Amino acid sequence: MNILLLGSGGREHALAWKLAQSPLCDKLWAAPGNPGIAQHAECTALDAADHEAVVAFCSDHAIGLVVIGPEAPLVDGLADSLRVAGIDTFGPSREAAQLEGSKGFTKELCKRANIPTARYERCVSLEQAWGALKRFDPPFVLKADGLAAGKGVVIAETYEEAQHALDEMFDGKFGSAGSEVVIEQFLMGEEASFFALTDGTAIVPIGTAQDHKRVGEGDTGPNTGGMGAYSPAPVLSEDLQAQVMREIVEPTVRTMAAEGTPYSGVLYAGLMLTRDGPQLIEYNARFGDPECQVLMMRLESDLVELMKACAQGRLGDVGEPVLSDDFALTVVMAAEGYPGTPKKGGTIALGEAEAGGAKVFHAGTKLAGETLTSSGGRVLNVTARGASATDAQAKAYEAVHAISFPDGFCRRDIGQREVRRERGLA
Ligand code: AMP
Repeated sequence: MNILLLGSGGREHALAWKLAQSPLCDKLWAAPGNPGIAQHAECTALDAADHEAVVAFCSDHAIGLVVIGPEAPLVDGLADSLRVAGIDTFGPSREAAQLEGSKGFTKELCKRANIPTARYERCVSLEQAWGALKRFDPPFVLKADGLAAGKGVVIAETYEEAQHALDEMFDGKFGSAGSEVVIEQFLMGEEASFFALTDGTAIVPIGTAQDHKRVGEGDTGPNTGGMGAYSPAPVLSEDLQAQVMREIVEPTVRTMAAEGTPYSGVLYAGLMLTRDGPQLIEYNARFGDPECQVLMMRLESDLVELMKACAQGRLGDVGEPVLSDDFALTVVMAAEGYPGTPKKGGTIALGEAEAGGAKVFHAGTKLAGETLTSSGGRVLNVTARGASATDAQAKAYEAVHAISFPDGFCRRDIGQREVRRERGLA
């Protein structure tokens, strides 16, 4: 089968690496790809926003499966355009991708399906939002309704801070994503992510993970797209995972199907593990980045078979994904300045980073002649497996040390909470 993978980040490098290992994959194409992806795929300059061009490429190259990595083309309906043209596609339709594309849509679905989530109000004007604030206690959780590249959530400690943040949101800080705002109750607990594949009817879990969102060690400084992750998330016990399936994921998939907008692809549930049980914080309609890197590192099943089965509505016929019992951990190496204005063009030498079995996934890299250079904020995802979090962490940092990237930095404490737990310290 010929496969087309859309995207250019570390997530897509991990997907490309795994897809290319499948005996079902004859030829892997990636658009636009990156130098890491180019080790496994032929990269081509296709614009995912140009649906006609993507469909034409698929016809010309006998593509049997399209895998859409990032959220923007999903919310933009690329999967619909491909399916209309008869091309099997991994990823939800435009309407189903609203689970990520509209916070308000998801909250209302939760209400209809009785899914545990924070109390909320949807606000379409500043006046309404200021009024609604009075019905919440601090800290205030304010969310731009639409896609905002992971930056559309503000947690305000005081009423005044919340009013100011709302001013900015309705003033266009997040573009049209902020023309509606969801205010919700702050939830206390530990966060964890749960991933499932679904074809709209059958649902199979494909692992758990935890990530590190803040730029600085000890979870300090501004939020980022993610500075590292590990899988599994032991805090999500087997019992809790069963509860998440029963109370959150299954009712979501059932309700979407019953309402005529079946969801297929990967469903990524961001959870808060509260004293009252797991609550849904948000859904994403694609794999997390960098969570995907650690899931792919543990996945033992054939990813092409799973994705094709999702695309064709026969996930029930293939077995549940098998993940290794190992831990996987990824350290993001970012360019100086990230998450503000990252310095571009820094030179990178990977050296012997992969000699001990680690895998270096490329995120924001490009080749300047023969030299690998940085071209984005998050640049490399250094990923390793081990029998424990302690072991995986040691291997990942050993690989980090082998890399020369003078204009880069990384957090030194990825997975530390789990390592402390293993030592009996937490
Ligand atoms: P989201 O984009 O909805 O995942 O929100 C981004 C981050 O904001 C989450 O990862 C949480 O850390 C935090 N957050 C979102 N909603 C809540 C909530 N209701 N209570 C506490 N923290 C939240």
